[in-house]
Amino acid sequence: MSHELHNMSVAQLAAALRAGEFSAQDAASHFLARIHASTLGAFLAVDDEATLAQARAADALLAAGNAPALAGVPIAHKDIFVTRDWPTTAGSRMLEGYRSPFESTVTRLFQEAGMVCLGKLSCDEFAMGSSNENCAYGSVKNPWDTTRVPGGSSGGSAAAVAARRTPAATGTDTGGSIRQPSSFCGVTGIKPTYGRASRYGMIAFASSLDQAGPISRSAEDCALLLSAMCAPDPLRDSTSLDVPPEDFTRTLNGSIKGLRIGLPREFFGEGMDAGVRAALEGALDALRALGAVTVDISLPSAALAVAVYYIIAPAEASSNLSRYDGVKFGHRARDYADLQEMYEATRAEGFGAEVKRRIMTGTYVLSHGYYDAYYLQAQKVRRQIADDFQRAFGACDLIAGPTTPGTAWTLGAHESNPLADYMADIYTLPASLAGLPAMSTPAGFDATGLPVGMQLIGNYLQEAQLLQAAHQLQSTTDWHRKAPANI
Ligand code: GLN
Repeated sequence: MSHELHNMSVAQLAAALRAGEFSAQDAASHFLARIHASTLGAFLAVDDEATLAQARAADALLAAGNAPALAGVPIAHKDIFVTRDWPTTAGSRMLEGYRSPFESTVTRLFQEAGMVCLGKLSCDEFAMGSSNENCAYGSVKNPWDTTRVPGGSSGGSAAAVAARRTPAATGTDTGGSIRQPSSFCGVTGIKPTYGRASRYGMIAFASSLDQAGPISRSAEDCALLLSAMCAPDPLRDSTSLDVPPEDFTRTLNGSIKGLRIGLPREFFGEGMDAGVRAALEGALDALRALGAVTVDISLPSAALAVAVYYIIAPAEASSNLSRYDGVKFGHRARDYADLQEMYEATRAEGFGAEVKRRIMTGTYVLSHGYYDAYYLQAQKVRRQIADDFQRAFGACDLIAGPTTPGTAWTLGAHESNPLADYMADIYTLPASLAGLPAMSTPAGFDATGLPVGMQLIGNYLQEAQLLQAAHQLQSTTDWHRKAPANI
């Protein structure tokens, strides 16, 4: 069994564990061995004992015959979710060695579903980035080509899933951080409607945008995982939506005949690589072959999304990150003469360059005299972007387009040009600003063999429809089954 285990889906693992084909401890040990042997840099914290303790608990539930659906299935968490049994750094020196006294709602829900945590996954510092190179603890390699980035900010999550180091991972998406790395690593990831998953215990970057979601190797697995992680959490997250938990697997097998898929003119213009365009056409053909109908739509304000996002997200970040002052928790500078100097030295030492850039931009756009010109204006355009989508959904059921303009770039390629990173978010930002559910599903490969992702965007709370379309696509295509060589 053991050499096959890491190729099994979440659904298969759950069934095999229930049937007693192997134990949760067997599964955990198998994946831990693969993680220890890996040189991708995807994991920031691994603790075999903590993992095996959860596996033993899952085995006890399985033996008692009343185990929850995902009992014993391994998962790993982006290091932005606080966990009691593993340290949490958010990829920052600021939180080096930090141990949370409480558990995030999302990781708690997975634990209650019986899942076994394999450890914490690398990410860009405070989830700010598109390549995972902003992590203070080193970059992560893309398993398809180890000279390339895995994407970001959930780069460790996507790389670990693609390299079969875990069957499932959590990610967070503020402006594309689940979808873009999923696209770069050839895996499936979904960001639900803003408010579906609780933000409690998810280290805050831009609170009006931050949303958790699963990354795995198929739409079916994403449906299982998303069903387990979404529940109202009104006492701990005031933006948590009051909608009952949903079983997103229920409608997966429904036909998509007649489904109207909108293709925004603005997503298919200049700027998209030829390889991405060709792959996307193939995926759209596959959807049409399943009976879906494509219709042309327009999102006129979408082009402004990069400018708007890189005002709003840094503004919120500058406020959220003010808590790292050397007093309450995390890093504190050693040498200082007075309180002011302690704050300054602590923040100068603890934060990396990109985080500082965002804090400075954010502070600037919120400052007296610039607020109206930047922050307020950006909020107004944000509303226009959301309105565009509502108009578009009058003519279609869901929207398809590229996840990213190109495939994974070479490590270090954007080092001296942060704007190149920002521009690569062009297709993922509109749905984020509107708070809509969106996912990336494999759509083939470019001429150099790098994975291409197709983005699907749904209307509010229509995750089931997105996952159904992706599952139907995955039932007639095999891009999502391809694995990188030498993993
Ligand atoms: N790449 C975007 C940024 O750097 C998105 C990050 C995210 O979604 N967390 O802000």
